[in-house]
Amino acid sequence: MQECIFCKIVKGEIPANKVYEDKNVLAFLDINPRSKGHTVVIPKKHYATLIEVPKDELEGLFGVVQEIGRKIIENLDAKGFNIGSNNGQMAGQVVPHLHIHIIPRYEDEKEHYGFEAAFPVKEELKNNLADVVKKLLETGGAKEEEAPEHEEPKKEVEQKPEEKKEKWHFLED
Ligand SMILES: [Zn+2]
Repeated sequence: MQECIFCKIVKGEIPANKVYEDKNVLAFLDINPRSKGHTVVIPKKHYATLIEVPKDELEGLFGVVQEIGRKIIENLDAKGFNIGSNNGQMAGQVVPHLHIHIIPRYEDEKEHYGFEAAFPVKEELKNNLADVVKKLLETGGAKEEEAPEHEEPKKEVEQKPEEKKEKWHFLED
């Protein structure tokens, strides 16, 4: 199998403008910067997408994202930043090694883009939100996980037994 370009960066076989490195996480500037300080954060282990990352490795990974976000504001004088990660080919992922983009945004930029601009509203979907919630909350999916034994008790008074298995849920509005 041809080794991925980010694994080669981790091994030092390809140079990169590193801005952070620890045992598990590496961050470097994107070679195609969308703005000054555009950084890519990756786990050193090869995980194709976010789905594959063990949960206990997420805190370290996103802790670095947070820290670099802070540096971007404090040291580069950015006024904000976008975080984005393409997961899967259909989402536009090019390098098949999970990476999280941090794109600083500056006051003097003519236009300010967010996800709202990247993904225009599909009006026809507004009527189907309840259906989507139902679908997302379905149990018995391909990879249903067991709830951890130390799970904190939920605060809801009335709860059906099958709902207790859920580790997360949507807040009622
Ligand atoms: Zn890789």
